[in-house]
Amino acid sequence: MAKDAPRPVIVWFRDDLRLADHPALHEAAATGAPLVCVYVFDEQSAQLRPPLARPLGAASRWWLAQSLRALSSSLQTRGAALILRRGPAADSIAELARQLDAAAVHWNEIEIAPYRAVADDLAEALSIAGIAHHRHHGDLLAAPAAIRTKEGRGLRVFTPFWRRVLSLGDPPQLLQAPARLHILPDVPSDDLASWQLEPTAPDWAGGLRDTWSVGEDAARDKLHSFLEGLPGYSTGRDRPDREATSRLSPHLRFGEISPRQVWFAARFAAAERPAVAADVDKFLSELGWREFCRHLLVDHPDLAARNLQPAFDDFPWTGDDTALHAWQRGRTGYPIVDAGMRELWHSGVMHNRVRMVVASFLVKHLLIDWRLGEAWFWDTLVDADPGSNPANWQWVAGCGADAAPYFRVFNPVLQGEKFDPNGDYVRRWVPELASMPAKFIHQPWSATPVELAATGVTLGGNYPAPIVEHKAGRARALAAYAKLRQR
Ligand code: FAD
Repeated sequence: MAKDAPRPVIVWFRDDLRLADHPALHEAAATGAPLVCVYVFDEQSAQLRPPLARPLGAASRWWLAQSLRALSSSLQTRGAALILRRGPAADSIAELARQLDAAAVHWNEIEIAPYRAVADDLAEALSIAGIAHHRHHGDLLAAPAAIRTKEGRGLRVFTPFWRRVLSLGDPPQLLQAPARLHILPDVPSDDLASWQLEPTAPDWAGGLRDTWSVGEDAARDKLHSFLEGLPGYSTGRDRPDREATSRLSPHLRFGEISPRQVWFAARFAAAERPAVAADVDKFLSELGWREFCRHLLVDHPDLAARNLQPAFDDFPWTGDDTALHAWQRGRTGYPIVDAGMRELWHSGVMHNRVRMVVASFLVKHLLIDWRLGEAWFWDTLVDADPGSNPANWQWVAGCGADAAPYFRVFNPVLQGEKFDPNGDYVRRWVPELASMPAKFIHQPWSATPVELAATGVTLGGNYPAPIVEHKAGRARALAAYAKLRQR
């Protein structure tokens, strides 16, 4: 670089793959210095810090590849490029900063212990090299430090937590995406394909491609079309047979949209159309659960590995691999469970109500440790989130913060009949049952042999018989729980 050329500024992209409301990019661009926008694919740091840091699951890797392509193309339309590097993030960025004689590095903080640890390492390396660094905030509605008890602990019950967040008022105003970016040219970059984030042999990602448009533009369009059709969210959100929820979770997971953008757009919708205000409040409180789960990680960084209630450490899990496999493949014989697991396999997500039902089925009817279910979700969800996934699994299993009590065992038949009354969701994902009338679709075993034959269903043949009988499964779960309490 010429001696009198302005020193470049690096923006380190992480789980914030967007240009709008991106404080680090905004501040870096405002300096007027030539920018270097970098993403580092870092699997090594995760290996150094198990179980806190976890390598991405397969579905998330697929999403990441699409999201990086989308970000790269948005940067190109503004005259910039996305530089890709692979390796331990702190070392890679510090080395790049030294090589380019950067004036500063900017990034958005992610309040998750392993992310913070990498950022701390980078901050230290930069300080030693005499390079400035700036840590910004854009991943949460409220800083964890602002929501603590008098004793300095995070809140473990959702309602007071959310009340506290609401009492802080609106989060900071949104930042526009920079219209034009001035970049430092000719910085070498990896080729995304060389990271092999997407499956090839076999290519199982067809369902993901059919289901999703990935990236910041898609996230913004989805938010706006969701808010236009909002009435009925509060009740419709529990219906897997309807498209009543936003489907923003993977976009939020990878930071293609910020919670603040969702907050302000939703508040604006409520101000414009008071009739949807109650639905907006409910929707924002769901966003509050994401926030709650992320805040939980501050005090409990090992949320995916350890029961929040230690009493559960002695729980007598007895489930076996055959049952786990049947659950994973959607072959339990319970249509709502199987539909959910197959939706997950195909599309990388599952409706929230059905996530609760399948998770409850695994930990209660099959007595399988929730961590095995969480790990399967981690690998197969495109929205697999370090906070929301383990926190919700612990919630369902009864061992978490503000958890559903263990003795509340979902009946998969009643759940199906209540939330998928016509069976449309089951018919979509379990085509063997497509001809089943609504009255049998959630319990095909209650149809007579003649009725079964008329629908082309053979239980134990083209569709499994239930792998556990509901009443017996429930009784066994409650007995295991009673044993735990005795201890
Ligand atoms: P909407 O109803 O439109 O909600 C808006 C946003 O609020 C969501 O995008 C999400 O960011 C957040 N949200 C909603 N419900 C929850 C919740 N219960 N916990 C935390 N955040 C919530 N969500 C994830 O984002 N990642 C996960 O890995 C994840 N794992 C889960 C595992 C289990 C066992 C269960 C029961 C739930 C899990 N959830 C997870 C929560 C929830 O199922 C999804 O966030 C929701 O289905 C996403 O759909 P949506 O975007 O249409 O939600």
